[in-house]
Amino acid sequence: MSVETQKETLGFQTEVKQLLHLMIHSLYSNKEIFLRELISNASDAVDKLRFEALAKPDLLEGGAELKIRVSFDKDAKTVTLEDNGIGMSRDDAVTHLGTIAKSGTADFMKHLSGDQKKDSHLIGQFGVGFYSAFIVADKVDVFSRRAGLAASEGVHWSSKGEGEFEIATVEKADRGTRIVLHLKSAEDEFADGWRLRNIIKKYSDHIALPIELPKEVAAAEGEEQPAVEWETVNRASALWTRPRTEVKDEEYQEFYKHVAHDFENPLSWSHNKVEGKLEYTSLLYVPTRAPFDLYQREAPKGLKLYVQRVFVMDQAESFLPLYLRFIKGVVDSNDLSLNVSREILQKDPIIDSMKSALTKRVLDMLEKLAKNEPEQYKGFWKNFGQVMKEGPAEDFANKEKIAGLLRFASTQGDDGEQVVGLADYLARAKEGQDKIYYLTGETYAQVKNSPHLEVFRKKGIEVLLLTDRIDEWLMSYLNDFDGKSFVDVARGDLDLGNLDSEEDKKAAEEVAKSKEGLVERLKTALGDSVAEVRVSHRLTDSPAILAIGEQDLGLQMRQILEASGQKVPDSKPIFEFNPAHPLIEKLDNEQSDERFGDLSHILFDQAALAAGDSLKDPAAYVRRLNKLLVELSV
Ligand code: ADP
Ligand code: MG
Repeated sequence: MSVETQKETLGFQTEVKQLLHLMIHSLYSNKEIFLRELISNASDAVDKLRFEALAKPDLLEGGAELKIRVSFDKDAKTVTLEDNGIGMSRDDAVTHLGTIAKSGTADFMKHLSGDQKKDSHLIGQFGVGFYSAFIVADKVDVFSRRAGLAASEGVHWSSKGEGEFEIATVEKADRGTRIVLHLKSAEDEFADGWRLRNIIKKYSDHIALPIELPKEVAAAEGEEQPAVEWETVNRASALWTRPRTEVKDEEYQEFYKHVAHDFENPLSWSHNKVEGKLEYTSLLYVPTRAPFDLYQREAPKGLKLYVQRVFVMDQAESFLPLYLRFIKGVVDSNDLSLNVSREILQKDPIIDSMKSALTKRVLDMLEKLAKNEPEQYKGFWKNFGQVMKEGPAEDFANKEKIAGLLRFASTQGDDGEQVVGLADYLARAKEGQDKIYYLTGETYAQVKNSPHLEVFRKKGIEVLLLTDRIDEWLMSYLNDFDGKSFVDVARGDLDLGNLDSEEDKKAAEEVAKSKEGLVERLKTALGDSVAEVRVSHRLTDSPAILAIGEQDLGLQMRQILEASGQKVPDSKPIFEFNPAHPLIEKLDNEQSDERFGDLSHILFDQAALAAGDSLKDPAAYVRRLNKLLVELSV
């Protein structure tokens, strides 16, 4: 053992400690994945070396085939992984193996419940990684040297996974990383050639570089120890270069876990080779579950980019629009230059045409999933629906296609689940219905019971119920679908078009005429609070309702803008009343102007409350209401 200098003991970042604890306690039923994770890291390290060596061939230090070796010692109960990839400097080891750099980790950790079953789901969202070594090992030694550094600048990182790690500078002749796992006594079954071979075949067959295991050979005559011969146990070719028909589902799934750093199988994938003017291969995956940092601005997104098989960069963001940031996978181009940079990617016209083709592939894959696996699509929507709703605003060209993928709650369901697609909606629309009706609001309970729905319920017309924060904004980008325009039922002068019969319309006009006096009186009483007063034809049970002006901001947008500190243009609602309601009849007959005023203000405030708005002067509402109650009780 070489001399160790500058030895230090350092503490893990708090989140690492939590992660280690979680890992050890929740993954006990799936221990063997530690090998997949460490091999995945070794493969990444080799990819990085290959890429850096394009510009600095010296990094290869004279060559040697790039590979991963896995060996074991039954007596010492160790498993050792060795790669000749990029390696780590002392600083790299402290940062990469002592902290978790992912943004939002602290927040994520707060969600841990202590309940192992629940938390083991969380770990999937987070991705496992290097620390999975501690599932089977009670001590891990990492010896590494970064390519390009002197042999004297090797590092030895060592930890028992209990809150701290030791770090020292050591001599390391070969570039790359060697990881020695000292197996827990109950886990010594892993120090076995057969076991390791099977695990590698099962999880890491797709790794593009050779993974070697020692072959059992008999000792030659006169020697005590047999010479070690190495044998490649995986297929060792880039999975995406193989024809689709030859790749098994399990292989696609394991490859996904490697590229996506995910723990679970993907929901769906699409593997395509494009030839012609542009030549590239893409393998795109839809994850099953949203990662914990989907809404973090700095969260990793984008595809792994290869140029003619050589890894070029992680998180290449220019190949997909932002609303598809959850898609994982690789793209391997024959047209780009090996020294392509992020800046070049942003400007290159080749990338633009690849981006639109890849976007279409993803949307097609989602359409197929929605059509063939509706149950799975429901799961997809739960996880990624909110992000998909960013689509119509970002991707004008695919607006109609994205709209077809959207799912909403509607008056046809009774649990607020977002399962209704626009095509389903139109397929069961009423005869003569040429609009898609929707209502937005804060909560499902609120919109479900909104008075705005009364006429629709009466006529049996379905209304989409939109309660996500993003919905009103989304609808401002959607004008129509399949030639049918969207109508916000709380907005403007609701025109049901062909859905109202001629008689209905005539009757409504007559009623409106007969109530002109009441309209005028209400206008005087409500004064500045309203933009307009009119007779409603959308109410059956409620006395009054507030409608939003055709051009005004809706409640949701107003609240979002207000919360972000922006000045919101003042807009007044339209007060509509139901002429057939007993309270309105009473109002119409009220002789006292004072009581008429009180009652109209109460109706106005109630309508605001029913719409989910807050009252400008709640005390005045209570005062007026109490006054009426007192009069009632005498
Ligand atoms: P991830 O692979 O998602 O980045 P890991 O926990 O698996 O997370 O690994 C943490 C980091 O440690 C890697 O990103 C890499 O920087 C470093 N690392 C791990 N294994 C190796 C290795 N064999 N060679 C070089 N660096 C490594
Ligand atoms: Mg990893």
